[in-house]
Amino acid sequence: KEVIKIKTMTSEEIHLNNALETAGIMAVETDLAELIIQLGEDQPSHIVVPALHKNRHQVREIFKQKMGLKDLGDTPADLAEAARSYLRHKFLTVPTAVSGANYLIAETGGVCIVESEGNGRMCLTLPETLITIAGIDKVIPRFQDLEVFLQTLPRSATGERMNPYNSIWTGVHAGDGPKNFHVVIMDNARTEVLADEEGRQTLHCIRCGACQNACPVYRQTGGHAYGSVYAGPIGAILTPQLQELHHAESLPYASSLCGACYEVCPVKINIPEVLIHLRHKVVEKQTKGLGKLNPEAVAMRVMANIFRSEARFRAAQKFGRTAEKPLVNREGWIGWLPGMLGGWTQARDLQAMPDETFREWWEKRDKKEGRNG
Ligand code: SF4
Repeated sequence: KEVIKIKTMTSEEIHLNNALETAGIMAVETDLAELIIQLGEDQPSHIVVPALHKNRHQVREIFKQKMGLKDLGDTPADLAEAARSYLRHKFLTVPTAVSGANYLIAETGGVCIVESEGNGRMCLTLPETLITIAGIDKVIPRFQDLEVFLQTLPRSATGERMNPYNSIWTGVHAGDGPKNFHVVIMDNARTEVLADEEGRQTLHCIRCGACQNACPVYRQTGGHAYGSVYAGPIGAILTPQLQELHHAESLPYASSLCGACYEVCPVKINIPEVLIHLRHKVVEKQTKGLGKLNPEAVAMRVMANIFRSEARFRAAQKFGRTAEKPLVNREGWIGWLPGMLGGWTQARDLQAMPDETFREWWEKRDKKEGRNG
C-alpha cells in the first residue's frame, strides 16, 4: 500500500512516515527535495529547501541507484525529468494523499497550500482521498488575512513575489478533485507553548526559513547539527518547546544571540528573547532542589561580593596571580584548569594574568613622576 505526500514539516515532526511504514504503508514524497531526502535515506537540513546539503552529482547518484536508471545526466533538467517520470505514475495510481497546510482559514473552513513545483496541486486533485494534517498554529481568522501571508511567505522564503502554485480548497465537490477529505488538526504541545507568555510568539512562525539563512551558527554547522526536524534559530526555540525540554536542552545555547534572526523574521519573533527565556528554564530545571547550594549561584554571589568593594577586587586580583602560577606554561598560557573551571580550557587556552594591572602601573607611574593621581 502507498500514499503520496506533499512536503509537510508537521508530518516530519510526528514521524508520520515511520508510523505508516510500521502499519505497512509506504509514504512517497513528491516534493523534489523531500524525494531526494527520502531516496537518500537522509534527514532534511532546511525548512524550505530540505536537500540543501546535497549537490547535483550526489542527487544523480541517488536517483540512478534508487530509480534503477543506467544513464542519467546531472543537469537540473535531467534530474527534474527523472523525478517527474518516477512520480507521474504515482500521481496517477496512488489513491490517497497526505498534505500539510500553510494556512487554515477559520472564516471559510478553507485550507491553503503554497508551493513551487506543482506536485502539491497533483496530490490535492488526483487521488480519491486527501488527508490534511496541520498544527493549530496554522489557523488564521479571515480569508482577507491571506493577502498578507501570501505575500510575506514567498518574499522571505525564496525571494519570489508570489508562489507559483497557491491552492485553496474547502471540501469535496462532485466531479472535481478528491471524493473524501479529512482534516487532522494537531496540538502536539502547542497549547502549552501558547500558555507560556514569553514562548508563545514562537507560534507566529510561518516557516519561511529566513532566520536559518541569516544565522551565523546555522551557516557554519548546517541543519543536521541541531538534531531536530526544525533546524536553525526557529528550531532552537521550537523544538525544546514542542518536545519536553530535557530532549533538547542544548538547543537554546546553539546561538550567539547576535539577533540576525530577529532582524530578518517577517513576523518579528524575538528569537534571542525566547532563547534566553528557554536558557533560564534549562538552568532552573538543572538546579532544581539545590537552592542556595547551586554552585553557579554561589559563584555569582562570591563574584558580586568581590565586585562591590575595590579592596576586595584588588585582593582577588593578587590572589589570582599567585594561584595561577603553577598552571601557567612557558608561553604564558594556561591549558588546564581544575574542577568546574575546566570547562573553559576544554576548548581553548586561557592567557595568564599580566604581572601588574593597569591601575597598579598607573599608580606606580604617578609616584615615580611625583603626580597626585
Ligand atoms: S522564525 Fe521567523 S524567520 Fe524563522 S522561519 Fe519562522 S517566520 Fe521565518
